[in-house]
Amino acid sequence: MSENKQKLPLIESLRLNGRAFAFLFRQVPMVFLSNIAQSVFSALTPYVGIYLSARLIDELAGERNPEKLVMWVLWIIGTALVFGISRAMIQRWKDTRNVAWWFHEIMIYARKMLHMDFCDMDNSETFKLYHQIMQNTRWTGWGLERIRVLFRQTLDAVLNILGAAALSVTLFTQLVPESAGEYTVMNHPLFIITMISVMMISVILSPMCAKKADSYAPKIAECMRSGNRTHGFFSELSSEQERAADIRIYNQEAICEHYFKTTNEVLRSGKLLRMVRGKLGLIRALGTLISTLFTGVVYLFVCAKAWAGAFGVGAVTQYIGAMVALSGGITSLVSVLGAIQNNAYFLRENFKFLDIPNNMYQGSLTTEKRSDIEYEVEFRNVSFKYPGSEQYSLRNVSMKFKIGKRLAIVGQNGSGKTTFIKLLCRLYDPTEGQILLNGIDIRKYKYDDYMNIFAVVFQDFQLLAFTLGENVAAGQEYDRAKAERCLRDAGFGERLDSLPKGLDTHLYRYFMEDGVEVSGGEAQKIAIARALYKDAPFIILDEPTAALDPIAEAEVYGKFDAITNGKTAIYISHRLSSCKFCDEIAVFHEGAVVQHGTHAELVADEKGKYHELWHAQAQYYVANETEAVPDI
Ligand code: ADP
Repeated sequence: MSENKQKLPLIESLRLNGRAFAFLFRQVPMVFLSNIAQSVFSALTPYVGIYLSARLIDELAGERNPEKLVMWVLWIIGTALVFGISRAMIQRWKDTRNVAWWFHEIMIYARKMLHMDFCDMDNSETFKLYHQIMQNTRWTGWGLERIRVLFRQTLDAVLNILGAAALSVTLFTQLVPESAGEYTVMNHPLFIITMISVMMISVILSPMCAKKADSYAPKIAECMRSGNRTHGFFSELSSEQERAADIRIYNQEAICEHYFKTTNEVLRSGKLLRMVRGKLGLIRALGTLISTLFTGVVYLFVCAKAWAGAFGVGAVTQYIGAMVALSGGITSLVSVLGAIQNNAYFLRENFKFLDIPNNMYQGSLTTEKRSDIEYEVEFRNVSFKYPGSEQYSLRNVSMKFKIGKRLAIVGQNGSGKTTFIKLLCRLYDPTEGQILLNGIDIRKYKYDDYMNIFAVVFQDFQLLAFTLGENVAAGQEYDRAKAERCLRDAGFGERLDSLPKGLDTHLYRYFMEDGVEVSGGEAQKIAIARALYKDAPFIILDEPTAALDPIAEAEVYGKFDAITNGKTAIYISHRLSSCKFCDEIAVFHEGAVVQHGTHAELVADEKGKYHELWHAQAQYYVANETEAVPDI
């Protein structure tokens, strides 16, 4: 049974909504305060109107004193004016605050994603949860998103009830005069209690029907998520320019259409359609019927009491207005309670995501800045499984990095090279074994300090849609001369000269109309420049030249000495010929280091994996296998 279908007790629902309210109030108090102000004014305004109109009608139907009539009219106009102006000003305050709400809400999830441990961020369960929340938010605004509305509705309902109750108490306490004969039955306490009970029951029953009609929402959330995902996928697929050529060349329209129909849970199961079409429509209609009956009973009761002489005609408008408002208030309160209960199912997912703890142990040691850059890292019998995976991605890896030397890591796809780098950079902690920095377990260092000793160009690096300089320096304040030097060292010099705004050029067009699109190769050069700018003792390049053309690649290799400049360099590449200039090569196979040595030593071992890989690649370059592979 999915979590959404398990019933939540009312207390738990209230607790979850209360927690969400407190959580949001701490972040955006003005949003709630402006809503409170607007609620109070909105609730007061009609009652002031109802009360003053009743006095005016009473005066008209009674003494007809012209001075009093003028006074009541002036009161009505004056209060309408004051309340109208105040409401407009409060509305403006509330609206501006509410606009900021959306940004705050997006940032709550974005910050959580940015700050959670990498291993949780990299987990498919986290992504599933995140997408479910986005889906709940965008689809019907359930979850945290709904709190502001629920808060406002609760407040409105409570104020309505209080105001209406205050104006209608005398309806029950004002007695019919004895002269009214059989009408005096309305004075009997039993009659009054029965009347109040009938009204209460109908007032409560009506919104309960509405709640029942809405209760399908949590039950179909999962089905809708799947439907929306399919919908999103297919709408993007049809509009993505990069795919357009493939789709046409391979006539993929038909297969896309087929998958759209068969994978779309909403279309396929018809669950949603059945639910909305079925009993739920009738339940909603029943709710409306009950509420109309209530209004009928109110009219009868109030008119009968006025007819019997309990109060004047003016009071009839007051009591009917107040009773209808009271019914509206109670209806809103009950339905808001229903919505609060439904919302709790969604909030449970919000908090499941927001409560993901940062479990990675944060040490306290600093990696003091050493001028000799003597940072020695050692893997000691390290094994690793990805969370939720049964398979080891690394097994018993032991390795010591020689300071200031270049190490190449080679191996087939899936042999564990990237995983090895992720552990080295502490994006994950080993399942077994230890990684040591200068003899101390890396977990004992401050996380940010430890991260500072690495500059990595990942294979799937990402640049940000900020300025070129900010991308290189990873910050807003930076050393422009150094950023420019790094870009030139990474081979981006010519392109930089062609950009009129130089380092201030925005990458991509997300934020700036005049942003530039960079090619894969150019982006890779910027990523290398970013690693150079960081000037860390370790530089790690994961397939750093994959997107470069042969000339640019040769250029980067030519500058490799300058790039690594006495640092400890780790270099992952499929092109073995380009690993030859490294001091040492480690060969990975099925998660283990199977060979370790210089190029000459490894290639000489004819039974070794390196020999196999080398010759598999060499045959594409040379006719005679015994010939050396040419350098590029
Ligand atoms: P390489 O970089 O040598 O191509 P990887 O380190 O990426 O290899 O992968 C090593 C193994 O770990 C592969 O079997 C791969 O399927 C698995 N793997 C990689 N990333 C994950 C992940 N996030 N979750 C589960 N398994 C993974």
